[in-house]
Amino acid sequence: MRKPLIAGNWKMNGSLSLIDRFGEACSETDLPLNVEVALMVPAPYLDAARRAFADTPMAWGGQTLHDQAAGAFTGEVSGPMLAEFEARYVLVGHSERRALFQEDDAAVLARVVAAVDVGLVPIVCVGETLEERDAGDTESVVLGQVDAVLAGLEARARERLVVAYEPVWAIGTGKTATPEQAQAVHASIRSHVNKTYSEALAEGLRLLYGGSMKAANATELLTQPDIDGGLIGGASLQVDDFLAICQSAG
Ligand code: PEP
Repeated sequence: MRKPLIAGNWKMNGSLSLIDRFGEACSETDLPLNVEVALMVPAPYLDAARRAFADTPMAWGGQTLHDQAAGAFTGEVSGPMLAEFEARYVLVGHSERRALFQEDDAAVLARVVAAVDVGLVPIVCVGETLEERDAGDTESVVLGQVDAVLAGLEARARERLVVAYEPVWAIGTGKTATPEQAQAVHASIRSHVNKTYSEALAEGLRLLYGGSMKAANATELLTQPDIDGGLIGGASLQVDDFLAICQSAG
């Protein structure tokens, strides 16, 4: 049985006071015990997140990491640094990182390896652009991005991964994939992993959907058989909306 995960991605948004508001809300709200919840905060907020969420069910994580543990890489954040702040997760290969910071499949794999090396759980983001969908290339693009990571990892490391299917055309646009569209891609990822790697890996692999998920559409997406949670951007900046999505996952 796969435990659902609801992960928020603040991107370059938020504030210390928003962390505190989430901390208070998580202490006062009964979050469903059968759901993991986490916020991926900007790196400067990691220490505040650690303090605010320490005695709550909320986990925290980073939005990217460098593939090297340390060195002359001005502005970058390393896996050991995230681990020092007790981050549990790190996003890797978000479409904004791929498009705006030129992270290709090789860079994504190197970052996943670096994350696994320090005990973080990488949430690997995959997804097609609208042009790729319109050209009928969704499956080949998405499975190619999945393989670029899985094929480069040892079996034990593969088991640590979470994959987030995020159609690029749905991120931050208010256009959500229909539950049927999302389920079809998730089912195709799971079946491919089953055939190419192992049944056990496919059965255990948590597949999140991301792309304009909000309280109003969370239930119909999260009740699809191959959708094991959500990666939430905009709605993770609103305490009530994000906690409502967590409740839907329970
Ligand atoms: C994201 O940033 O991963 C995301 C899914 O954003 P939004 O929910 O705002 O579309």
